[in-house]
Amino acid sequence: MKILIVEDEPKTGEYLRQGLSEAGFVVDLARDGLDGLHLAATGDYDLLVLDVMLPRMDGWAILQALRLSAHEMPVLFLTARDQIDDRVRGLELGADDYLVKPFAFAELLARVRSLLRRGRNKEPEILTAADLEIDLLRRRVRRGGERVDLTAKEFALLELLVRRQGEVLPRSLIASQVWDMNFDSDTNVIEVAVRRLRAKVDEPFEPKLIRTVRGMGYVLETPEVS
Ligand code: CA
Repeated sequence: MKILIVEDEPKTGEYLRQGLSEAGFVVDLARDGLDGLHLAATGDYDLLVLDVMLPRMDGWAILQALRLSAHEMPVLFLTARDQIDDRVRGLELGADDYLVKPFAFAELLARVRSLLRRGRNKEPEILTAADLEIDLLRRRVRRGGERVDLTAKEFALLELLVRRQGEVLPRSLIASQVWDMNFDSDTNVIEVAVRRLRAKVDEPFEPKLIRTVRGMGYVLETPEVS
C-alpha cells in the first residue's frame, strides 16, 4: 500500500513519514502543494494525507484538481483549524475524512487503515432519497425513473440537500457551499434557486421532499412510510 503525505511543516512531515513507514506502508512526502498535486496525479497512490495550508497551492485546490481529473483515491485532510465550515468544505469537495491538529499518531493510523479498507469496497456513486436518484459520476438526476435536467448550481444544491438529508441547512451554509459566497440577507438567490429546483424535482412528483423551515433554512426529508 502506497501513501502520499503532503505536508510543508518539516517536523510533522518527517514524523508521519517515519510512523507510516514503520507501520508497513510505502510512503512519499511532498513539501508543497504543487509538488504534492504532481505526485498525487502521477504516482498511483492508495491514499493521500493532505495538509490544508500549504505553500504554492492549498489542500482544497489540490483535492479539487484531483477529483476533477477523476482521481478517486481516498483523502484524509489534516486541518489546524477547528472550524466546522472548513471540515464541511473539505468533505463537500470530496475528502473522505479529516483530523484536526494536533492529533495522536495512533489516531491517524486508525483512520488510514479504515480508509484503505473502505477504499476496497467503494462508496456508491449514486445518492438517493425516496425515488430520487443522483448519479454523481454522470451528473444526472432521476425522479421516479424520469430524467430531470438541472443547472450546475441546482445540481450542487440538490446534492448538498440529499447528502445531508434530515438536517436543516441554514441559508448561510448553502450560500458558502453552493455559491462560495458569504450570505447576504438582501439577496434572494437561494430562494430563487430552491424554487426552481422544487419546480423540477418536487412539484410534478409525490411525496414532496424539500421543505422550508421558516426562519432557519431548508431540509430534504423522506416522509416516513407507514
Ligand atoms: Ca501547513
